[in-house]
Amino acid sequence: MKHVARKCATLVESTLCRGGRVLGRVIAIANQKGGVGKTTTAVNLAASLAVAEKTVLAIDCDPQGNTTVALGFPKNPARRTLYHSLILGEPIQRIVLKTQVEGLELIPSDKNLVGATVELVGKQNREYCLRNLATEVRNNYNFVILDCPPALDLLTLNALVAADAVLVPIQCEYLALEGVSELLDTLMRIRRTLNPDLAIEGILLTMYDERTTLSRQVAADLRSFFGAQVFETVIPRNVRLAEAPSHGKPILFYDIHSKGAEAYIQLAKEVITNDQKRAGEGAERADSGARAATAG
Ligand code: ATP
Ligand code: MG
Repeated sequence: MKHVARKCATLVESTLCRGGRVLGRVIAIANQKGGVGKTTTAVNLAASLAVAEKTVLAIDCDPQGNTTVALGFPKNPARRTLYHSLILGEPIQRIVLKTQVEGLELIPSDKNLVGATVELVGKQNREYCLRNLATEVRNNYNFVILDCPPALDLLTLNALVAADAVLVPIQCEYLALEGVSELLDTLMRIRRTLNPDLAIEGILLTMYDERTTLSRQVAADLRSFFGAQVFETVIPRNVRLAEAPSHGKPILFYDIHSKGAEAYIQLAKEVITNDQKRAGEGAERADSGARAATAG
């Protein structure tokens, strides 16, 4: 277990601001384990950031299309999706949809994206396709949130290459760390090769049930392994979070008084605070760099 924590620690480094300003921070929500709360986090973090008056783009990188549905777009074969842009070369701006949440836009996906995993293989720089698309739009937003599929496939790889940082949801249950070591290996490989700037945004404990000893034990273990890399915010198991997607609404618009809504608002605050800290550090470094240059 300790080696997992060590791997994680080496990966943690804040991505520095571009020119002293942090614009369009791209965060991939990834864990190849299924059903750990990736989509729930993508949808509700994105919506909570938007409610906090940040401009946000959610990109559904999963052929299951769950983020798309959860944000209020029922399945529709006629709709243009990420696939059209990624594989067929349609301008990304034409794919973007406005959602019911002011400040939150979406690049939808559907099952066609399964084909992309095969079709990307033949492309040049196949790992960079999503990054190229994100580069075109990222500066229109404060945050770009990528929901990844439950696999370490070419789509997840594209998301991790496009991202500044990765947020890893881990479910507070038995075998919580299963697969995390493999994910951290992949992140390290990506840092060595395709995306040296990839940071860890944080590890997020999800579906926490304070009534069970197991949940409490797993949460304590994860905190002792990963230390400060774990978000202070913990997402509780909350039935309202599970219900909201079938109404096509983020939790804030489904039940703002629920524990789930409270937790995702808290998470958004943490993400914004971390972002501001990074911007502050970047400005300080730029300042001291300028002073050194003047002195020299
Ligand atoms: P996949 O790997 O299939 O993409 P995922 O990691 O995106 O899954 P979600 O779809 O977010 O996981 O969550 C899995 C299921 O658990 C969903 O039915 C979701 O509504 C439910 N769920 C997620 N988070 C919570 C929570 N905190 N409390 C209760 N139910 C939750
Ligand atoms: Mg999902």
